Amino acid sequence: MTSPRSIRARLITLYVVTLTLIFVCFGGYTYWGFKQYLIRSLQQTLTHRAHQIAVTILADMPQKGEGYVGSEIQARYAPELNERIIRITDISGRIIYASRNADVLSKPPSVPFNDGDTETVPVHREETVPSKENLQVVAIGYQLADSARYIVEVGTSENDIFNALDGLLRTLFLGFPVFIGLTSVGAYLLLGRALRPVDQIVRSAERITLQNLSQRLPVAETGDEVERLSLALNRMIQRLDEAFQLTSRFTADASHELRTPLTIMRGELEALLKEERLTDDQTHQVASVLEEAERLTQIVEGLLLMSRLETGESQMVKDPVDLASLTATTVEQMTPLAEDKSVSLLCETARSVTVEANEVRLKQVVVNLLDNAIKYTPEGGKITVQVTRETSWAVLEVRDNGIGISPEALPHVFERFYRSEQIQARKARGTGLGLSMVLTIVEAHSGKVEVESRENEGAVFRVRLPLLELQMAKGQNRTS
Ligand code: ADP
Repeated sequence: MTSPRSIRARLITLYVVTLTLIFVCFGGYTYWGFKQYLIRSLQQTLTHRAHQIAVTILADMPQKGEGYVGSEIQARYAPELNERIIRITDISGRIIYASRNADVLSKPPSVPFNDGDTETVPVHREETVPSKENLQVVAIGYQLADSARYIVEVGTSENDIFNALDGLLRTLFLGFPVFIGLTSVGAYLLLGRALRPVDQIVRSAERITLQNLSQRLPVAETGDEVERLSLALNRMIQRLDEAFQLTSRFTADASHELRTPLTIMRGELEALLKEERLTDDQTHQVASVLEEAERLTQIVEGLLLMSRLETGESQMVKDPVDLASLTATTVEQMTPLAEDKSVSLLCETARSVTVEANEVRLKQVVVNLLDNAIKYTPEGGKITVQVTRETSWAVLEVRDNGIGISPEALPHVFERFYRSEQIQARKARGTGLGLSMVLTIVEAHSGKVEVESRENEGAVFRVRLPLLELQMAKGQNRTS
């Protein structure tokens, strides 16, 4: 559905408004031009008729008398039958002849006689008669051989002109919606085609994430703004990619450099702990420093792993892995940890749920989620782990009835180094990197993670990974 504020809708609105204006102006001009043309033609016809009457009938009046004029006009032109009005008056206004319908006419106008002219130029006028119709009337002056001057008037109703104009108006009104409708549909389709490259750019841009910043948008070679837009966006992605690679490489290098000194420190501290000369207090202090060094090691390892994943390990080696058996084994290995805390750990898995994954990384996901569930579930609690299939996804669910996550903390749990205030207050072990590692690994496998939780009621973490069988089936469809 096109939004009313979209470029397409706005362009079409502009197009329709412009066309309507053009159509109205064009219609108005045509109507006016046609009306002028019809009136001019009518005036010419009337002038011609007046001239004929003067030359062929009036000119013979001195010899044949006024009665001849009347009967000749009736015989030749039958004015009432032909809806014409004919009147002949002399210069003093005396009527020589008037058709029966001529009583609606006003006084004859003065016509411009020049010395030597037999016939004057025509004088046109428009009259409105009591029946509300308009008449076009033409008057010409005519001088006979005996120098007597007369005015010949011929008129007719404008009804025929208005009937023709009404017809034109009706055609314009009926044609207008059809014309606008057809051109709007045409414009809609054409604009859709013109904007298709933008759609493609948007869809490709949506697919680009931190894991595939090396991908680029399709460049529409249209030589216009759309091409420039895709090129500019590609250059921006390139710069982002470089900046991101630089940061990740720096984190990876720094973590790598920190590893060796930390190993040495831990070794030294462990050796120092065995030293018998230490007092109880000193032993306690050394143990505490060792604990912090171990925590630091975990952080450094976590950072190293994530920056490796971000800088290209998305192309890590992946094989078909049965998520069900991997989870079952991990649960088994971690059961002692749960037992130590008197937390029950149950595992229900479907028979075989194969995904394409890096087994070591995927195991890390299961370990981190289980470790959290055990950590944040008090004694006597219960953890259930499930692996199921859901249409095209393999789903790993880790559910506990532990302390849960507060609504304020919930949106942040996947952020690096985030630890809820409640957890910090409890001084629970941890680095705040476990869940962000889960997210990075799952996204590198084109999967999704979600969490549902209520404070004091427990938490459910759900990981979805694409099922391998379906991917293979899709690949086969594509190649066949
Ligand atoms: P941490 O090392 O603190 O466990 P994580 O990244 O694994 O770091 O988790 C981030 C935060 O999410 C934790 O500090 C905790 O507040 C919350 N959290 C994670 N898993 C659970 C869970 N199963 N129950 C309650 N809170 C959890």
